[in-house]
Amino acid sequence: MSSEDVTRRLAQVQDRVAAACVAAGRPPGAVQVLLASKTMDVATVRAALAADAAARAAGSGTPPVLLGENRVQELTAKAPALVDLSPTWHVIGPLQSNKVTAALRWASAVESVADEVLARRLSDRVRDRPEPLEVWVQVNVSGEATKHGVTPDAAPDLAARVAALPGLRLAGFMTIGARSDDERVVRDGFARLRAVRDEVVAGGAPGTGHAHGLSMGMSGDLEAAVLEGSTLVRLGTAVFGARRPAAGTVA
Ligand SMILES: *Cc1c(COP(=O)(O)O)cnc(C)c1O
Repeated sequence: MSSEDVTRRLAQVQDRVAAACVAAGRPPGAVQVLLASKTMDVATVRAALAADAAARAAGSGTPPVLLGENRVQELTAKAPALVDLSPTWHVIGPLQSNKVTAALRWASAVESVADEVLARRLSDRVRDRPEPLEVWVQVNVSGEATKHGVTPDAAPDLAARVAALPGLRLAGFMTIGARSDDERVVRDGFARLRAVRDEVVAGGAPGTGHAHGLSMGMSGDLEAAVLEGSTLVRLGTAVFGARRPAAGTVA
């Protein structure tokens, strides 16, 4: 995809997000955009970051886009080549223990924490840092077997345990929406994540005071997610076009 195409598509996506905020009665800019750059090459990601910087310089008023990778291998391949632009990287896929060190060289946040073992490993690696590592608890709201994440029922307890670990700052909750053509089903799933968030914040356990974030909504369901309170949408195909299927790549 040409850099003109990426520029145009990013502008369209930001318009979609802004319109969704208006439709939800929320202030424009209430929702941040993360670009899911899996399978995209460095030049394409660079074009998107340049387009974002240009839009903001022209007064778009949008917060800077974030970048997200599912696989640590892709993160460590792309991040060094983009270091001059100092993007903020989030890990958005399951993180194996043997990849934690490599991931933490580049990622400012891990959105896919779904068990206490990973949270403890992250905490051990960052507890001596001056700034905490941002973590999100991933919840499987649809119950689909292919999806990573803790069950909604178990999420509040896990969140409280994660939030109490040294060096971590629980920023909120992440989910991948139900794979369904029924808008009601998709929205119910997002509402479920919001209910988990509300329960945890209201519970007031130590370290949960910042856990207001809701990372939910992708290219096909961002409007539903924004209506249900998303604060961060993770977008791939809407900006970059269809991904070429690559061996071993989670689509
Ligand atoms: C790929 C991916 C996205 C973006 O998906 P699109 O449908 O291409 O927008 C968002 N979140 C996660 C975890 C992903 O793996």
